[in-house]
Amino acid sequence: MSPKVFEESSVFYQLSKRSHQNVVFCSDEDTGLKAIIAIHDTTLGPAFGGTRMWTYKSELEALKDVLRLSRTMTYKAAISGLNIGGGQAVIIGDNRTEKSEALMRRYGRFVKNLNGSFITAEDLGTDTKDMEYIRMETEHVAGLPESLGGSGDPTPIAAKGVLLGIKACVKEVFGTDSLAGRSVAVQGAGGVGENLVRLLRDENVQVYVSDINDDRLRQVAKKYGAQAVSNNNLLDLDFDIYAPCALGGILNTETIGKMKCAIIAGSANNQLAEEELHGQMLLEKGILYAPDYLINAGGMINCYSELSSAYSRKRTMQLAENIYAATRSVLKKSKEENIPTSKAAAIIAEKRIADIKKIKASY
Ligand code: NAD
Repeated sequence: MSPKVFEESSVFYQLSKRSHQNVVFCSDEDTGLKAIIAIHDTTLGPAFGGTRMWTYKSELEALKDVLRLSRTMTYKAAISGLNIGGGQAVIIGDNRTEKSEALMRRYGRFVKNLNGSFITAEDLGTDTKDMEYIRMETEHVAGLPESLGGSGDPTPIAAKGVLLGIKACVKEVFGTDSLAGRSVAVQGAGGVGENLVRLLRDENVQVYVSDINDDRLRQVAKKYGAQAVSNNNLLDLDFDIYAPCALGGILNTETIGKMKCAIIAGSANNQLAEEELHGQMLLEKGILYAPDYLINAGGMINCYSELSSAYSRKRTMQLAENIYAATRSVLKKSKEENIPTSKAAAIIAEKRIADIKKIKASY
């Protein structure tokens, strides 16, 4: 009997595309909870990943996002030398109007039921307050407020890592890692985006910033002396570096076609709409792309420190500072082998996982 072929629009097709260890659908009528938790790979340790709350166009879109993000977390932990695996959760809903204590705590019960095989933290659309609610139901959560013994908001460290990734790229392209005289377009003025704007302005960089939330955009631009730009016009401007700090999939055939910048380096996860195709397109166009999971690992590192031992800000900063050297290594490999930077990063991450798998098999 020939194997059944799944329709591309089917949940089973999505599940069969990437080998996840466990995918859990969570629903609760009373609180309106609709969430998906995906555990991708636990070779290096329990799966760790954020909880994203977003208004997806469909449940299938949410599934695709969580499957891709959880895989990215596996690669992020691996390339950053952390002993955790990759996972992710998404809650379907409007993070501005549909959040409640009950919803977050109900979701926390689902995390609890995974008995520590999945540990979560903040992501787009969730914050330390949400983690506090999840903590009321389970200990398998990080990114808690400092007043509760946690590491607090991870976005300043995530932004610091992105800045270091930008500097590693600037060194490659312009021969110096000084940002003086450079211009950067930051898309998304949320937690990470705002902190990145602040760090860039501290280095006297000319910053353009956009956001779909006009109030937020105006506030951030005014606070740091950046230039607010409509999201639709951002890519038409002339700037050296593009820093996507909102949603993924932003680097696609259409947007890459328009790009005039020298470097792309930002915090958004899964920036390449299709990893192989668009990684190659950027290489051919001569635009240096800093793989997102490599340079945005600061948030994960922050939570990892919180989980590992007594939290030390200094130790976390030291770990985050490795992002500069790690980015330089990826750029070197990409140049030597004439392969996209995304591919160079994936090879390094996959090798670490394969090496540790062999060691574990010998226990
Ligand atoms: P956030 O929710 O605080 O901010 C996201 C911002 O992007 C919001 O202000 C939103 O209005 C804006 N936005 C959404 N769609 C947009 C669009 N199409 N164009 C312009 N702006 C848009 O999220 P965050 O925590 O800052 O995370 C931003 C990105 O960085 C996400 O992809 C996230 O996965 C990634 N990331 C976050 C962390 C972290 O520590 N929070 C760490 C690593 C990576």
